[in-house]
Amino acid sequence: MKLCEAKQALRKEIASLKKLYKEATLQELSSKIMSRLEESILFQKASCIAFYHALPGEVQTAHFIEKWYKHKRILLPVVKGNDLQLFLYAGQKSLKIGAFGIWEPSEDSLTVPEEEIDLVIVPGVAFDKQHNRLGRGKGFYDRLLSTLSAPKIGICYSFQLKEHIPTEPFDKKMDLIITEKETL
Ligand code: ADP
Ligand code: MG
Repeated sequence: MKLCEAKQALRKEIASLKKLYKEATLQELSSKIMSRLEESILFQKASCIAFYHALPGEVQTAHFIEKWYKHKRILLPVVKGNDLQLFLYAGQKSLKIGAFGIWEPSEDSLTVPEEEIDLVIVPGVAFDKQHNRLGRGKGFYDRLLSTLSAPKIGICYSFQLKEHIPTEPFDKKMDLIITEKETL
């Protein structure tokens, strides 16, 4: 099987695993993951953090973003063609529904120079114990992360963490992975 086919098969496998969980359960697991994130030194030391607003089924971040954006600078991605651009989050009023139905900062939001970003929180369909990441298949985060030098934390439910996932040369590795069960 070609690598891209193996990736696609794994995306399907994870999608069917997700269906076994109720939304409320995933919300609880998300809270545990966010607590672990708060315990990490990388998070505690960071004052400017690139985050994301979750799609259904992804690790839920909304409560966490509301809790923290007044204490740390939180950046959120906006889809611009094939790329993600990061804008400063300034409260719910400054959000609008963007591509894929995700809440995005509006056009008049502020940006932050790349070198001021201390940490990037990365969603994923699957991760593995070598810190590799599998996304939804469009390479958005591979492209974004190739422009950033800040440490990267991948967050996922423990059923998304595999021994080994297929990777290609352009796939970006994480510095840390956090699930509700472990930080590795
Ligand atoms: P995902 O990371 O979302 O799971 P893939 O790793 O399968 O998706 O990548 C999807 C596509 O994105 C690939 O076909 C690849 O050509 C493209 N891509 C990945 N990284 C880059 C990059 N740094 N520059 C340009 N294209 C890239
Ligand atoms: Mg990739």
